[in-house]
Amino acid sequence: MAAKIQMTDLKAQYDSIKPEIDAAIQEVINETGFILGKQVALFEEEICRYFGVKFAVGVASGTDALVLALLASGIGKGDEVITTPFTFIATAEAISRSGATPVFCDIDYATLNISADEIRKKITPRTKAVLPVHLYGLPCAMDEIMDIAGEHNLKVIEDCAQSFGSEFKKKKTGTFGDCGCLSFFPAKTQGCFGDGGMIITDSEEIAQKAKMLRNHGSTKKYYYGMHGFNSRLDTLQAAILRVKLKYVDQWIEKRIANAGLYNQGLNSIQGLFPQGIVSECKHTFNYYTIRVKNNRNGLQEHLKEKGIPAMVYYPVCLHLQDVYQGLGYKKGDLLISEAAQEEVLSLPMYAELSQKQIQMVLEAVRTIEK
Ligand SMILES: *Cc1c(COP(=O)(O)O)cnc(C)c1O
Repeated sequence: MAAKIQMTDLKAQYDSIKPEIDAAIQEVINETGFILGKQVALFEEEICRYFGVKFAVGVASGTDALVLALLASGIGKGDEVITTPFTFIATAEAISRSGATPVFCDIDYATLNISADEIRKKITPRTKAVLPVHLYGLPCAMDEIMDIAGEHNLKVIEDCAQSFGSEFKKKKTGTFGDCGCLSFFPAKTQGCFGDGGMIITDSEEIAQKAKMLRNHGSTKKYYYGMHGFNSRLDTLQAAILRVKLKYVDQWIEKRIANAGLYNQGLNSIQGLFPQGIVSECKHTFNYYTIRVKNNRNGLQEHLKEKGIPAMVYYPVCLHLQDVYQGLGYKKGDLLISEAAQEEVLSLPMYAELSQKQIQMVLEAVRTIEK
């Protein structure tokens, strides 16, 4: 019997490389260097090579990567950081945790990513940074964003939690700004077996501060220079991620091929539109997301009845969340983001998804027309 269709099939991926993963885990256990062991440093080196950056700092999660990157970039109380409201909460939560204030800016209708024109309108004398999110794996318009940052002397911190391996004009996301933040949460394109994250940067200063911050602000053992955190990438996770890094590009190619099949199949269906792809972008499809112009919830329900999972990333924009009520936004402030929350639907996406399974998803989508 064919495997059940899921949003992502972590077991299928593990099964495909089980002996290598098991051996890597066993080696860490044998060596017992569980905290900041050898595998962490080796993985950081490999990530530097993969992205073509000078420094990589492994931390406990993608959320922590954002918090530590902001702090290491000198962002804090009294500063404003412009970001998208159409993202996972961690993006804005990290800004708030750094002490700064998130300023929500509307998105581009087609790409669902932060709009460069809207960023310009939100700049004030307090603006210190822009935090673009490459949503679902689609790169933001980084040339325009870097131009704006240059004109206004702003830091750029890229949220690459969903865009591992994505490229804008042949350059990887995470390498445009002052730093890039990766998440190794299991459901991400490069996921581990728990929580994990990383900051990548060419700035020695940011890298050094981030290394101190992740380890209690320590300069050397039992000497402390700043208030830090306990936020290290586990050696076990690094060992698993080293194995997966060897395969990630081939898995990304499969995701892209699967997205192509979805695009073809959905082409002829009225009222459905895939996330708009910008030319010169490599979208790595952490999620494959469509807009449903009419009755998105009905389609989701219909798919569920047919045994096909589909998810809404994200049903409530961040400027409308209770936690941000104090910032004074109201419904109607960011119309394109608010439309997106009613229309988006993400379909099952992973490298191991077979052509037959994709046809099953497409068939289920089609039958709602009847
Ligand atoms: C997953 C995610 C994060 C947070 O990563 P964790 O590793 O889960 O802490 C941040 N931003 C975005 C856009 C994400 O999707």
